Amino acid sequence: MRVLVTGGAGFIGSHLAEALLLRGDEVVALDDLSTGRLENIAHLTAWPRFSLTVGSVTNEPLVASLVDQADMVFHLAAAVGVRLVVNAPVHTIETNVHGTETVLRQAARAKKLVVVASTSEVYGKSAVFPFREDADLVLGPPTKTRWGYAASKLLDEFLALGYWQERQVPVIVVRFFNTVGPRQSERYGMVIPNFVRQALAGKPLTVHGNGAQTRSFTWVGDVVWALLALAAEPRSVGQVFNIGNGAETSIRELADMIVAMTGSDSDIRFTSYHEVFGPNFEDMSRRVPDISKIRQLVGYEPQVHLEQILERVIDYWTPEMPAGITINAEHAEFAEKTLGKASAGSAVSAFERPSL
Ligand code: NAD
Repeated sequence: MRVLVTGGAGFIGSHLAEALLLRGDEVVALDDLSTGRLENIAHLTAWPRFSLTVGSVTNEPLVASLVDQADMVFHLAAAVGVRLVVNAPVHTIETNVHGTETVLRQAARAKKLVVVASTSEVYGKSAVFPFREDADLVLGPPTKTRWGYAASKLLDEFLALGYWQERQVPVIVVRFFNTVGPRQSERYGMVIPNFVRQALAGKPLTVHGNGAQTRSFTWVGDVVWALLALAAEPRSVGQVFNIGNGAETSIRELADMIVAMTGSDSDIRFTSYHEVFGPNFEDMSRRVPDISKIRQLVGYEPQVHLEQILERVIDYWTPEMPAGITINAEHAEFAEKTLGKASAGSAVSAFERPSL
């Protein structure tokens, strides 16, 4: 199968591309390298079945030709990250809405399957926990910039489901909840890579707010498994799925764990949201998914717990570790999980080190 992965040089996209290649597919990644990085996919270029096209998902002729050559699309390209969204609301909304519109319009011509990446942010300030896919969504007002990201992703969801209902384009909408793992960039306000980098550098860990807010962190390999399973299940078409992990951790607890696990003597420092993101910012106190829908349909069960995730992310960011592609049992386990067939001898994983 030939698969188009938009955002394929990004964090989740590069892991997905790797799993598709290991499964035997041909992968075309489309990425403008705005938040994605060539280092994320450097190891994939050894595969003749992998190619990268550098360009924008809003470039209609380009998307048309790539969709024509593909059997299906994972649409992950988006303007991502709280800091980016707060600083560049127009760019965020235009990229997310026009990009998805372009992909869906092109996929519609040949009715190709599109998996559209959405986000737990669409639940907004809802206080009905855990979040179910059919729940009401409670977004804040447009004067609070952060909601522009959620609103743009929600419009993507409406558009995708509209293409299914009105034009019979097979679509699957997935809402990710704090996906984490190696290769996630620290640059746009993502909490785990930021804390790990601060702890390893002996700098204070900067907690926004009082740290009592909780998040549920999901291992990127579990997310990749879920994406492959949903795409292979015809009954998932025309539906929305949470992809997350039901376990909740407060940001304060997370900071403590990272300090302890890195052996750092960093302090934990609390800063107000307003100091970091401006006077108009607001945050949610909890964000926890109900994963019963995806569990029932494809047997999804998160496999990797927070402590193991942190070990792997710390390992990824630890500078004295040797660079390069590593083959070992743990990485084979990742491949086995995403593929269901790799063995320790055959799995080639690529949790290659970043250049610090
Ligand atoms: P990421 O920033 O690593 O990936 C996004 C990729 O899209 C990047 O490689 C970026 O360069 C690319 N991109 C951005 N604009 C583009 C454009 N106009 N044309 C082509 N490529 C473009 O972030 P990620 O965490 O891997 O996110 C992947 C998807 O998952 C996004 O749609 C995001 O909204 C969604 N998501 C992620 C999380 C998470 O926790 N990581 C949570 C919720 C939703």
